[in-house]
Amino acid sequence: MHICKVMKRKFTWKLLCLLALTLTLNAAWAGPKKPKRPKRVIFLIGDGMGLAQISGAMSTYKGKNAFERFKVIGLSKTSSADNYVTDSGAGATVFSIGKKAKNGAIGVDSAEKSQDGLFELLKIKGWGTGVVATSSITHATPAAFYSHVKSRKSQDEIAEYLVRKTCDIAIGGGNQFFNKRKDNRNLYSELTEFGYLTLHDTTWVEPNNHKIIYTCAEDGMPKMSEGRGDFLLKATQLASRNLQQHYGNYFLMVEGSQIDWGGHDNDYDYMAAELYDFNEVINAVLDAAIKDGNTLVVVTADHETGGLSLLENKDDKSTFKPSYSSKGHSGIMVPVFAFGPGAEEFAGIYENTAIHYKFRKLLGLDGK
Ligand code: MG
Ligand code: ZN
Repeated sequence: MHICKVMKRKFTWKLLCLLALTLTLNAAWAGPKKPKRPKRVIFLIGDGMGLAQISGAMSTYKGKNAFERFKVIGLSKTSSADNYVTDSGAGATVFSIGKKAKNGAIGVDSAEKSQDGLFELLKIKGWGTGVVATSSITHATPAAFYSHVKSRKSQDEIAEYLVRKTCDIAIGGGNQFFNKRKDNRNLYSELTEFGYLTLHDTTWVEPNNHKIIYTCAEDGMPKMSEGRGDFLLKATQLASRNLQQHYGNYFLMVEGSQIDWGGHDNDYDYMAAELYDFNEVINAVLDAAIKDGNTLVVVTADHETGGLSLLENKDDKSTFKPSYSSKGHSGIMVPVFAFGPGAEEFAGIYENTAIHYKFRKLLGLDGK
């Protein structure tokens, strides 16, 4: 009896040791916890949108502040391969290909070599891709996501890249680069042959198609002050809905293009109206992402424009006096806001190249 009890105790002890060992080994085998992968990404770029632009515009317009809804915030260093102060070509190229480029370049590295961008990598995985902008869809920022040219000025050539099918949906301005080209080609007809639905007028329609090139102006879209209304919001929702329905997984780049143009004009009211329009789009995108649960939302800028500061207003100390120090861009870091699966990756201070690699990691584009 007595011997039996001792044996039983020994056996229980051995069993417990074995269980502890198994648990420890299991934990070691599991490795570091992988971040949750998003099924959809909406990447919003406020061209020329620094902290002064956000602070100013969101004080001028008192609506719901979309930027304050983010818990994960980072800072991006914006220099290009050949200039501390980047232009929008190099500034968006770096997000797409992950390499610093020379100012003016689109989708090529500092040696002017074409490099695959996020859209090309995502297409291999069957994802839907799209760009929406208030500039021409062939302007530097959207162009960097689907084309590879040495100079941003080659907008006729940039438009030809849309025929190569790495971008499913493009909405913005830019008629002239499709049907009033130097080579007299009509790219709308060519795109139609490749299965794209092409729309090129200002009457807004809501098509249901997996490939849409929709240009609503000759060049850039009208300013907010000229009655653009909720074009950017409608275009973003149209692109998201179609990409969601036809692909499920998608990456959509949305640009508040003219925040930058207001900066170049040193026109605070122009800039603030454009930024507030962008804010309304971010609010809608966040509302949809909260409902969805699988959408990563990242908001940032390619650079700041105008060297804007908000100075004391001696006539009314409850407000400020906007003051520009330049008609060009500046080299100050720009904020990054992230929400959704993998958002925590975007906290911290890093080079703009890192944004590309964070997307790659989260979207499993490195074969991991
Ligand atoms: Mg731009
Ligand atoms: Zn600019």
